[in-house]
Amino acid sequence: MFIYNDFLLSEILYYKIGGKAKVLLKIEKKEDLFQALDFIKKEKTKKILPLGLGSNILINDKFFDGVVLWFSMYQAVPGRVQSSGIKLIDDNVIEAFASEDLDDLIKFSFKNNLLGLEWAGGLPSTIGGAVRGNVGAFGGEIAGCVDAVEVFEVGQDGRFDRKLLKASELEFGYRDSLIKRSKDLLVVSATFKLQKASKEDIEKAKEVYQGHIEYRNKNHPMEYPSCGSVFKNVIKKEEVGKILNVWGDVKDLVENKWYNKASMGYIIDRLGFSGFAIGGAKVSEKHANYIVNFDNAKFSDVYSIIEKIKEKFYETFGFYPDPEVQIVS
Ligand SMILES: Cc1cc2nc3c(=O)[nH]c(=O)nc-3n(C[C@H](O)[C@H](O)[C@H](O)COP(=O)(O)OP(=O)(O)OC[C@H]3O[C@@H](n4cnc5c(N)ncnc54)[C@H](O)[C@@H]3O)c2cc1C
Repeated sequence: MFIYNDFLLSEILYYKIGGKAKVLLKIEKKEDLFQALDFIKKEKTKKILPLGLGSNILINDKFFDGVVLWFSMYQAVPGRVQSSGIKLIDDNVIEAFASEDLDDLIKFSFKNNLLGLEWAGGLPSTIGGAVRGNVGAFGGEIAGCVDAVEVFEVGQDGRFDRKLLKASELEFGYRDSLIKRSKDLLVVSATFKLQKASKEDIEKAKEVYQGHIEYRNKNHPMEYPSCGSVFKNVIKKEEVGKILNVWGDVKDLVENKWYNKASMGYIIDRLGFSGFAIGGAKVSEKHANYIVNFDNAKFSDVYSIIEKIKEKFYETFGFYPDPEVQIVS
């Protein structure tokens, strides 16, 4: 386990925003996690923050007076560690450690003639982050192939209880899970049940995977640091109804294009925010649910834009949209 003191988080977070952490412990494998929990016990650490790739989190510029558990196969200096925590444990079941990249899991599944993850092409995530937030894209969701998840319930003193939760116990919902709602649960590893497939079908799945990467590169602002979608799409029937009461003309899009949800990218654009900037942050003109860091943005730049969008949204529809990004303010 590597220990870094006074570590500048903006160096490793996708957003390139975030202040220093008192201690950052680098976790690449289970033994590192045990050492990290020993460290927390000895130091009587009160604040713990797990991090994966940092692709869905906005952290303030202040000093974080606690321990960051950095689940990652990347290094603090550019580079990365060879993946070793992804294993085939049955004909169609793969086990992966929390720090592993989702993309490495997909490639590993293809190599073993297994299907079921191709929808996630181009989605930046660790296994831990993906399971916690039930990532999804292009009609797929990680919940669709999770078999079980090993979690540690960690107390402030570094003591922990190990639990193995079956998929049915994880209460997966749209970008949601039991883990996300329970502040003390760390994802340690997960098993994924996939479908065995012919070489031909695997080749087709690789094309789908590649197609999604190309779609993202073309339609999403990949040229700037971001956290992906800032807000969740609106899925509650009653809330979609409130939007339709004001904008009746989107009924067709809701029913025929957005699978009965309301697209936040569309709404933010129509509320007039595309290109809206504060300091070094702005709402992307390519995809309005992305707020990009185009010029050394501060936490407050992004946060102020989020607040402005929430206010205008509330004035228009009478309820607040739900942020997808994790905000540590
Ligand atoms: C360009 C871009 C495109 C994106 N596209 C999509 C998309 O299509 N669909 C989608 O769903 N998301 C998308 N996202 C968001 C992001 O990819 C996912 O939310 C991803 O799962 C975050 O994983 P991470 O490892 O980066 O987690 P982080 O951002 O590091 O952390 C996210 C949250 O998980 C917690 N966490 C991390 N690891 C653990 C662990 N081991 N145990 C417990 N808690 C943990 C953190 O404390 C934090 O609260 C996109 C992001 C970007 C930047």
